[in-house]
Amino acid sequence: MKSGFPLPAVCLVCLMWTACGAPDTQSSQPVSGDSFQWPNGERAAVCLTYDDGIDGHLDIVAPDLEVENLRGTFYVPGSSESLARRMEEWRALASRGHELGNHTLFHPCIRNRPDGRVFEWVSPEYALENYTLQQIITELSVMNTLLEAVDGKHERTYAYTCSDYEAGGESFVDSLRHLFTAARGGGEIPLDMRDVDIHLVPSWSAKEVSGQEMIDYVNRAAEYGTMAVFMFHGVGGGHNLNVSREAHRELLAYLSANRDRFWTERFDKVMAHARSERNRLGWDR
Ligand SMILES: [Zn+2]
Repeated sequence: MKSGFPLPAVCLVCLMWTACGAPDTQSSQPVSGDSFQWPNGERAAVCLTYDDGIDGHLDIVAPDLEVENLRGTFYVPGSSESLARRMEEWRALASRGHELGNHTLFHPCIRNRPDGRVFEWVSPEYALENYTLQQIITELSVMNTLLEAVDGKHERTYAYTCSDYEAGGESFVDSLRHLFTAARGGGEIPLDMRDVDIHLVPSWSAKEVSGQEMIDYVNRAAEYGTMAVFMFHGVGGGHNLNVSREAHRELLAYLSANRDRFWTERFDKVMAHARSERNRLGWDR
């Protein structure tokens, strides 16, 4: 010790710190370098994703996102009538910074659900239980080509149709890893980013919910320090799975006003960051 600082005084300082609550270096400092971090110390990432390529995405969703300077991910199936009729507008949407994602060519789903339900709207030839692995992988690959013709991008993310990831009773998660940088499935907010499989990322199918319920959802992700992925379909109509335009706007305004806590970004960009953090932390070694 360089100074002759009297011992009793040191102890008094210690006592005062304890009494007043010594600064907690664990919680008052930025997250330490050996834990998962979002780019600017945000508490959670939020991905706004919209499925099935409907007109409302062009007419309502994208304009409302852009009012708040936010960008979304649009999972468009090749069979989308809107894509066929309004391809130039979908191309323009991508050029404004939104992501176009793969959602298969024909939107196959498991028709006879494990819980006993039957999705009557899935015709038997597009029932995933009747597909082979080769068939779904070829379909996904052709859809990547179609989307590249629209937006010129070589890399793509995928959203599992109906959150189904089995074809002919076999998982195709491993078979699609080489086709996509990431893929969105269904399920709960992850408790820890370490548990997230980048090719089966959980998301919440939000339907008929209020703005406040969606705000509560992103705040749960912030508690865990992980991510909240929304799987929207219709916003303000156009789909039987729907959220009102008002509720959606309320969520967007909240995210826009809380950019210090929430990193709201396209799914591909959020997952690219997650991948680089996994590498930095050695989680995949
Ligand atoms: Zn879909």
